[in-house]
Amino acid sequence: MWVARQLASELKEAALTFMPYPAKDFKIQADRVGIIFPVHIWGLPRRAIQFINHMKVKPGTYLFAVAVNAGQPAATLLQLKILMSKCAMPLSVGYSIAMPSNYIPWGGPGPIKVQQRLYRQARKEVKAIAGSIQRGEQHKVDRGPLWQNILFSLIYKMTFRQVRKMDRKFWVDEKCDGCAICAHVCPAANIRMVDGKPAWLHRCEQCLACLQWCPQEAIQYGKNTIKYQRYHHPEVTVDDMLEQAKVKRG
Ligand code: SF4
Ligand code: SF4
Repeated sequence: MWVARQLASELKEAALTFMPYPAKDFKIQADRVGIIFPVHIWGLPRRAIQFINHMKVKPGTYLFAVAVNAGQPAATLLQLKILMSKCAMPLSVGYSIAMPSNYIPWGGPGPIKVQQRLYRQARKEVKAIAGSIQRGEQHKVDRGPLWQNILFSLIYKMTFRQVRKMDRKFWVDEKCDGCAICAHVCPAANIRMVDGKPAWLHRCEQCLACLQWCPQEAIQYGKNTIKYQRYHHPEVTVDDMLEQAKVKRG
């Protein structure tokens, strides 16, 4: 969300819209269209795939993408380029931007100094990307080294079908007060409140929004998250998250 906002502000006349959920036909009339999305397990999130399959643009639209990732974009933008060309939407440019990882089951965002360095770097990169888009550039999409593309793409393919059910490892501790923020911020409508506690419905995207935005830090994933601090970008608020969920679901 932060990268998309920054880019829209650099491009000046750009309008932001969230990928609708559930996916439905989505016609876009703009001359330039960009897809800004997070990399999940070294590939496209299911939500992004579904959106692209339902997206329609005018012939000749300039298409760009930004893959926000935790330092290893692997072959995600190649995957996107192939998918978009199958949908007759040739991607002109695709950029990778590294940000702190929000996946705390694997260790999390790193020290504050590292996070701040990544934010500074991302601001610079967003400016450069905006310039490239304004000039209508066309070139190869960003990608990781070959070994990363092969190995991580394999892991992505092997895990893709499992992701929806990976929510089985979520649990809530005694701090949960039943506020339902986790259910409201979930981009996949994957949480239902049952007897005042969240229940996960097995159509998870593993974005970890529920865990990161729980005001009580009551959501845990497996055994490790209990010892890690929660993370979200300092310029994104819970109201932003609630607003995007409202926009998406109508
Ligand atoms: S956001 Fe946290 S405190 Fe609120 S219902 Fe969900 S788990 Fe409980
Ligand atoms: S918010 Fe939680 S339940 Fe919803 S998709 Fe993300 S990780 Fe899964």
